[in-house]
Amino acid sequence: MPRIHPLSDLLVNKIAAGEVIERPGSVVKELVENSLDAGARRIEISLEQGGRKLISVSDDGHGMDAEDLARCILPHATSKITREEDLFAIRTMGFRGEALPSIGSVSQLQITSRTADSDAAHQVSMVGQKVEPLTAAARPVGTTVEVRQLFFNVPARLKFLRTAQTELGHITEQIARVALARTDVEFRILHNGREVQHLRATGDLRSRIADLFGAELAASLLDFTRSERGLEIRGFAGHPADSRSSAKWQYILLNGRYIRDRFIAHATREAYRGLMEAHRQPVFFITLQVDPATVDVNVHPTKIEVRWQDSSLVYSQVLSCLRDRFLTTNLSPRYQGASAAPASQTTDAGLFGSDAAAPHIDSADEEAQADIEATRRQQVRQSVADFFRRHPAGSPGPSSGPFSGHRPSYSGYGTPPAAAPADSPPTPRPIPPADPGQAAALQIHDCFLVTQTPDGIEIIDQHALHERILYEQFSAQLAGGSLESQRLLLPETLDVTPDQIELIESHGALFKQLGFELGAYGPSAIAVHATPSLLRPERVNAFLRDALDRLSDRQTPASAEMLLNDFVSMMACKAAVKAGDHLCPEEIQALLARRHQVHRSSNCPHGRPTSLILTLSDLERQFKRT
Ligand code: ADP
Ligand code: MG
Repeated sequence: MPRIHPLSDLLVNKIAAGEVIERPGSVVKELVENSLDAGARRIEISLEQGGRKLISVSDDGHGMDAEDLARCILPHATSKITREEDLFAIRTMGFRGEALPSIGSVSQLQITSRTADSDAAHQVSMVGQKVEPLTAAARPVGTTVEVRQLFFNVPARLKFLRTAQTELGHITEQIARVALARTDVEFRILHNGREVQHLRATGDLRSRIADLFGAELAASLLDFTRSERGLEIRGFAGHPADSRSSAKWQYILLNGRYIRDRFIAHATREAYRGLMEAHRQPVFFITLQVDPATVDVNVHPTKIEVRWQDSSLVYSQVLSCLRDRFLTTNLSPRYQGASAAPASQTTDAGLFGSDAAAPHIDSADEEAQADIEATRRQQVRQSVADFFRRHPAGSPGPSSGPFSGHRPSYSGYGTPPAAAPADSPPTPRPIPPADPGQAAALQIHDCFLVTQTPDGIEIIDQHALHERILYEQFSAQLAGGSLESQRLLLPETLDVTPDQIELIESHGALFKQLGFELGAYGPSAIAVHATPSLLRPERVNAFLRDALDRLSDRQTPASAEMLLNDFVSMMACKAAVKAGDHLCPEEIQALLARRHQVHRSSNCPHGRPTSLILTLSDLERQFKRT
């Protein structure tokens, strides 16, 4: 007797169901996609007990005649593709012919349908393996698919279903994904007979976002669009100050299909990098249209992943599209007092100053507000902590100033900072002369700068701002080759481990680009022959230590570009003035003047804000004058 035998249809279907039907939400996704493929303009989804008891999807699409109705539940039966070539230019949501037979194998399935050229409807049902004979029925043109007692014959799956509320959440998420991609279709969702969502067909993505996630969020989004080499990108991105703790509000929609994509995800991280703290998540809705022949959707059973013909085009276009949008937007956050004005007032004033193009987050958006405040508090704590770390009780004050590299006579970076001679020659300052027209600024606690703006005051974090300026300066230098380098008269040595020597050698080009010249010096030390000119000598060691830590961090493997960017931020941080550095008036003026020459000066490279604006009306409100 042979050991190998073909699987029964029921088993084949159940295996397929295991892949595509995980929970009620997956059934809804498959049925709604079928309705869209049938050209529906209106889809009604009715659920009972989170979809466990009943999932019913009705549409006004083209329907099926008796013959097709009998066939639609056969495995691998589809009307959407016929030839092999079709597989490489998919224009429909479905094409595998798996959903209906899979659903039928794990539930009680009933399909009623009528086409335009028939005056009667037909009905087919399937319970587990058993297909009932076709019967006549009544309904207008279109299709209704009813799924009862999902997983009644798959106890393992049934056990994993959650509460009705949780399953309903998964269902509405699936519908949101489709609804964002198809704003031209109307959706209505009922749960236990009650309407829970009604999404009207407006054809407008912003209003669909408003219907799904609230008008507040929708109004605060920045729109973007770009069309390049057959790739059309359109969408909305959240303001960097409106970051979230979860990636829940991130949607990528390709040719009407919700997808997950690591290239686009990486591009968005890059675009927000430096504008948002690393652990926070942006909000975005990105829709892409491409020729279906340039993307393979047959990679994953639920088609959630795709393979691009030209992934670097997708990456670079999404990145530059978002980047350009942020560069043309004023991103400075405005102060959010504890006793903020009523929502209406705040909305009218706008939270982003006088820039009319900038979005505003209504004070009713409590989450966003809490986020901004938390960031601000964190920033102040950090500055104070930095200050005390630098100046423990009894230590000498910051007498030598922030730019005391005293380069001319420098012969190594090992000199302890305390030994910096008080009578050192005037320091070369990496800051150009100040603009005489610039408003005067006051330094407070050797930490913040306060200046007057046309309609209020601005408080600037000196370290964060200088860090951003240096970051941009380094980036600009790198774009033209490598960072300016300074040779040491006598090489300095730094103790390292043998594997760190290996890391330095394998990343030789990277260090060279940054202005370092490093060489092995025995088995457990390196010799430093040259350092970047803008990095203060006493900070070289600390930078190299951090750089080596980053290189040996195998948890987050990085491309050469990402590493370079990380190193540039680290160097900007090390080279910048710190909280606690006393600045002379010329330095303050120069720092402020520089700010208008760099991009993204509203945030330091780690994404923390560099400044905070308090308008006169904010102040008046705080003093209860209004
Ligand atoms: P696929 O969508 O991959 O073709 P399905 O199992 O989901 O496979 O559906 C099988 C076929 O049934 C479809 O190709 C389509 O012809 C038909 N069908 C399913 N749902 C509908 C519907 N709502 N309206 C019209 N035809 C439908
Ligand atoms: Mg389908």
